Amino acid sequence: MSKSETIKVAFRLRPLNSTEKQDGRKVCCVVHEDEGVIEMQYGDSSKRFTFDSVFSASSSQRRIYDVTTAPLVQSVLEGFNGTVFAYGQTGAGKTHTMEGSIIPTTFEHIFDHIALNSAKDRYLVHASFFEIYNEEIRDLLTAGKSQQNSLELRESTDAGVYVQGLTSTVVKSASEIDAVLQNGNKNRSVGSTLMNSQSSRSHSIFSIVVECCSTDEHNNEHIRVGKLNLVDLAGSERQSKTGATGERLKEATKINLSLSALGNVISALVDGKAKHIPYRDSKLTRILQDSLGGNTKTVMLANAGPADCNADESLSTLRYANRAKNI
Ligand code: ADP
Ligand code: MG
Repeated sequence: MSKSETIKVAFRLRPLNSTEKQDGRKVCCVVHEDEGVIEMQYGDSSKRFTFDSVFSASSSQRRIYDVTTAPLVQSVLEGFNGTVFAYGQTGAGKTHTMEGSIIPTTFEHIFDHIALNSAKDRYLVHASFFEIYNEEIRDLLTAGKSQQNSLELRESTDAGVYVQGLTSTVVKSASEIDAVLQNGNKNRSVGSTLMNSQSSRSHSIFSIVVECCSTDEHNNEHIRVGKLNLVDLAGSERQSKTGATGERLKEATKINLSLSALGNVISALVDGKAKHIPYRDSKLTRILQDSLGGNTKTVMLANAGPADCNADESLSTLRYANRAKNI
């Protein structure tokens, strides 16, 4: 795979929401889908950014999947690893994109493929779902305990970097894997409204491993294993600016650290000349090490709102995404 194939950057603009409309907010971003360009009015000037694909506020959930993720899932089914990230400030549309489009359509894609090929190949699909909050790893599939349990990262020559004791559930259909997602989300939001804001400060990672065993004409078995990570990142807003102290400040520092570690890893991969890829700088990049770079595909899906009052954050999202681009 050439570099230009391995990392793709997409941008999605959400519509103005009802509060923004009521408050008379102006739209400060214009998307030119055909050219892959987003233009942003900022102060007296305007800035243009070009990405592999850009989606306007009226883009359908299906189109986002087809353009950004379908080719990546296809290569996972062929035994490669891949990762999709949703990046952006809280409220920008990360979860709307991941849970409304990317994740459920991935489930359908995988099990439709298996149904079509089950006469000749045998498949085994596992799913895990966990979050990283304050640099602590929590299993979302161990009901009730996810809040206390913090899992450790381990490394072995055989398995590479892995999360020790993480639940891995065998799934046999799109509806079974969807139940895993719903179950994990319930564990995520256990408790109170406080958890809602907490979920915007954690990275959630839904991992799917697809094993395929095929038999060739000489009766030899071939096993292919592909892994896909679907990552809904913590909100990228600069929380240190909000005057956070104590626990909040600690959280904010960790979020900034892991998002910038991810940015550094991706730009080192894109650069191609970098000798050292700083995977070890955060839990997120360590865990995803085998699915970022090398023979893998990555999609960075940047999300932003169009309102002038979010211009600062939207611009910082565009700059972050821009660093992940091939030059
Ligand atoms: P995030 O996960 O980035 O914090 P959400 O995905 O929860 O943001 O989106 C915030 C709100 O905006 C939700 O109510 C969501 O349904 C709505 N929203 C986000 N993107 C879109 C979109 N493209 N079209 C319509 N509504 C959207
Ligand atoms: Mg969200």
